[in-house]
Amino acid sequence: MQYPEPIAKLIDSYMKLPGIGNKTATRLAFYTVDMNKDDVKEFSHALLATKEDLHYCSICGNLTDEDPCEICRDKTRDQTKILVVEQPKDIMVMEKVQEYHGLYHVLHGVLSPIEGKGPEDLNITSLIRRLQKNGEVKEVIVATNATPEGEATAMYLSKLIKPAGIRVTRLAHGLSVGTDIEYADEMTLFKAVQGRTEM
Ligand SMILES: [Zn+2]
Repeated sequence: MQYPEPIAKLIDSYMKLPGIGNKTATRLAFYTVDMNKDDVKEFSHALLATKEDLHYCSICGNLTDEDPCEICRDKTRDQTKILVVEQPKDIMVMEKVQEYHGLYHVLHGVLSPIEGKGPEDLNITSLIRRLQKNGEVKEVIVATNATPEGEATAMYLSKLIKPAGIRVTRLAHGLSVGTDIEYADEMTLFKAVQGRTEM
């Protein structure tokens, strides 16, 4: 016997999520059937809103429902520092660390010859434009992950930015090589920001 189509479709949808196999997807689908209608409506609206109401900030590339994003609008933040991350979710990680109060820039990836990802595929042009337009920035902190691609991207940015007389530093990853900053604990990140090194 096959599941009725709405359930089969829901199982398929859940299976598109990372780490969810057929068994879990089936359990979630039947759980959804038992949920009250208002909760399901709220859930479906929340899902849709991620596509309809979220955009990338035109300044920093962060995910936001308002443009510019909250961080770029906040004039009380240290306008002399920009911390460069790979993904919007890395900003949330860094924000939990009370050590950093500057601005951010999201690359949306890293240089990866294997995946055919070059500088033009990353959010780099807007970073350079930002530095040229805003003479206030004195330091760019590169917080790409401690992977070969993350290191290569950091080197690339350093060569690009340093000639403009702007300090380029790298997070002192107390992390083992290959670790994403998203999995680092707050104390490690705190130390990484404090002990950042010149590039
Ligand atoms: Zn922004």
